[in-house]
Amino acid sequence: MAKVMIIGAGGVGGVVAHKCAQLPEVFTEIVLASRTESKCKVIAAQLPRPVSTAQVDADNVAETVALLKREKPDLVINVALPYQDLAIMDACLEAGVDYLDTANYEPPEEAKFEYKWQWAYQDKFTEAGRMALLGSGFDPGVTNVYTAYLKKHYLDEIHYLDIIDCNAGDHGMPFATNFNPEINIREVTANGRYWQDGHWQETAPLKENRSFDFPAGIGPKQIYLMYHEELESITKHLPEIKRARFWMTFSDNYLKHLEVLGNIGMTSIEPVEFEGKEIIPLQFLKALLPDPASLGPLTKGKTCIGCIAQGVKDGVKKTYYIYNICDHQECYAEVQSQAISYTTGVPAMIGAKMMLEKKWAGAGVWNMEQLDPDPFMDDLNQYGLPWQVVEIDQPTGMEK
Ligand code: NDP
Repeated sequence: MAKVMIIGAGGVGGVVAHKCAQLPEVFTEIVLASRTESKCKVIAAQLPRPVSTAQVDADNVAETVALLKREKPDLVINVALPYQDLAIMDACLEAGVDYLDTANYEPPEEAKFEYKWQWAYQDKFTEAGRMALLGSGFDPGVTNVYTAYLKKHYLDEIHYLDIIDCNAGDHGMPFATNFNPEINIREVTANGRYWQDGHWQETAPLKENRSFDFPAGIGPKQIYLMYHEELESITKHLPEIKRARFWMTFSDNYLKHLEVLGNIGMTSIEPVEFEGKEIIPLQFLKALLPDPASLGPLTKGKTCIGCIAQGVKDGVKKTYYIYNICDHQECYAEVQSQAISYTTGVPAMIGAKMMLEKKWAGAGVWNMEQLDPDPFMDDLNQYGLPWQVVEIDQPTGMEK
């Protein structure tokens, strides 16, 4: 039916390649391209059918355009790093190819997540008659679709939204991040921010925290308020929301290491001079930390990511919790990756499938909550990320 090019051969790229390869009726041809082609070849060798590989530096628009013109894919799935988003969008426009990513653009020199740079491509994609789907991972991605689904089927208006991301898995390493360490640490060490009555409220990094009791035997865990990019698009597209927050679990051990690394300057993105060479401490730290892809065989336990929405239905106040439970070892058995890469890669494949099947179509730049949630939700159940929705009538601790 269609040809896709996956750019990026890290933890997430591996899962996307596996999941696309499992659906030959949709993804007839697959090209896996990345900066280091040998990593593409390692992934290709694990797949149930042949895919081609290519080398590309996606920061170089001309190089990406040349590859796209040679390969002529229908769609690019960008699972490189957020720094490449704009360059790959430019290349897609020039080569006439649709675009999908899982994380919003971030300038390398500043830890700042904002959609403004990618929303600025709205006119260019519309005029070119091309579609760009932003943030088709889990969070952002599935969490946006969950919100749209609750709004469509359960609540007339959503007033309070809490997105809660729990990784109850254990990899047994003293300190490691579950996805790209540089992106992960930039995100976690930034100020917390949440939406309240039409304004952003800032908190010191990881200052606001509380306990939340997770389902599926996970039990109570400490959750920490962070800024996360879907808050920006969801509050734009559902302006009735009075308060929207994002929370993530961290173990005491992770936080202790992060604090020490922060205190000694190792998480800084300010360049420092070392033996006549300029280095960025966080990039040096990344070189020392385990590659997230190597955590796959080691990680045991579950993830639970979901949304609690408080709102009204037919004038009555209601609260719903919608979530997925994913098991690290089951993911590894299926696609040789842990659940963090799996929960990102599966929605990237489904977003691509929605576009190629024209269930989601339209020129311009789209966030996930703007599109019909139903076919995407069906595919989550079918392709490895089943969800459940429960009505909550007891206090959860998230009321305030
Ligand atoms: P990794 O660091 O494991 O992989 C990144 C890949 O991108 C590597 O193969 C890397 O190549 C490649 N790459 C980096 N720069 C370039 C470039 N200039 N040109 C071509 N390829 C390049 O990251 P992950 O797989 O963990 O994450 C991938 C993306 O998914 C990130 O954007 C991340 O933010 C996002 N993500 C989204 C989540 C969500 O729920 N929405 C959750 C988790 C991640 P090389 O091997 O040469 O370095």
